[in-house]
Amino acid sequence: MTKKNIEMSVLVYTESEEGKFKKTAFEVASYAKGVADMMGTTVTAVSFNAKDTSELAQYGVNKVLKIDNDKLSKFNAEAYADALKQATEKEGAKVVVLGQTANDKYLAPLLAVHLGAGYASNVVELPANTDPLQVKRTAFTNKAFSITQISTDVKIVGLSKNAFGLKENPVELSEEEFSPSLASEDFKVNVVSVDKAADKVTIADAEIVVSGGRGLKGPENWGMIEDLAETLGAATACSKPVSDMGWRPHSEHVGQTGKPVAANLYIAVGISGAIQHLAGINASKTKVVINNDPEAPFFKAAEYGVVGDAFEIVPKLTEKLKEF
Ligand code: FAD
Repeated sequence: MTKKNIEMSVLVYTESEEGKFKKTAFEVASYAKGVADMMGTTVTAVSFNAKDTSELAQYGVNKVLKIDNDKLSKFNAEAYADALKQATEKEGAKVVVLGQTANDKYLAPLLAVHLGAGYASNVVELPANTDPLQVKRTAFTNKAFSITQISTDVKIVGLSKNAFGLKENPVELSEEEFSPSLASEDFKVNVVSVDKAADKVTIADAEIVVSGGRGLKGPENWGMIEDLAETLGAATACSKPVSDMGWRPHSEHVGQTGKPVAANLYIAVGISGAIQHLAGINASKTKVVINNDPEAPFFKAAEYGVVGDAFEIVPKLTEKLKEF
């Protein structure tokens, strides 16, 4: 076995919520392992208040720096960037990997400023080279790719959700308590509380999204969308006009001007497939459309399509799925 260069491990920020790792933590860890193998080094994760870090060993993490600090129990970009900077320097890391959640998108640019590092967001593949680091990223709301090089000493990579997937790669994991000295505990911005609909899968975390459009005729018909989503353990979403008309909350609007969706399965019901809608959802792996107009543009973008009346098809589909 060749000796690993542990002096400059790849650092990975593993996001958690209420003490539990989010799925993105395992995906970024899998990716960091891929980068570390290319560099002949190891992976160090930084965890903020995660209760059980042992699962990281499954995804190639060799060491975890455990931060247990009540002041950091809620995400705070300023303080987390400060702590990650110290972890990067302590480990001598040359590459830092994050995901692309809302928190990551806030955190990564701050960290880049603290470290004087170059940052490439929306990365979809392992780097072609690691020094300078050359990566492929999506551009123009997923309509194109760009090849980007980062030539700074420390490089930060933001991995697109679902682009790399989970890769099991069990290794031995060591844990180390880590207490970064925070410049100030008097943060400029504090999250006071997070108001989350109980038990609802959020669009950002969802593996499956069931989305409804104007073809559903009115808010009174959303029961069948919710029923299908609940059966699949999916999040619900909608097209822009649907939220504009107040049929559904704006938090469900997906597309170019709404939330991006990078799910494994996106089911579009009564949605025509306008370019602005597709721009926000086409990073999803498998797209299924149910529409009564065979000429609807969505059929060209989808992997699977059903031509027919949503009011007949959706309840039948849900009924069938409930049998499993
Ligand atoms: P429609 O286009 O009205 O389509 C309804 C579909 O339902 C039709 O294809 C019809 O055949 C089908 N249908 C009707 N009855 C049934 C039935 N019984 N069973 C099955 N199918 C049925 N849109 C977004 O979604 N997200 C965005 O982020 C977004 N951003 C925009 C930004 C800009 C600057 C602009 C100009 C527009 C944007 N839009 C966005 C709007 C977009 O152009 C479309 O108007 C919108 O996506 C259409 O929504 P829809 O598919 O629900 O409605």
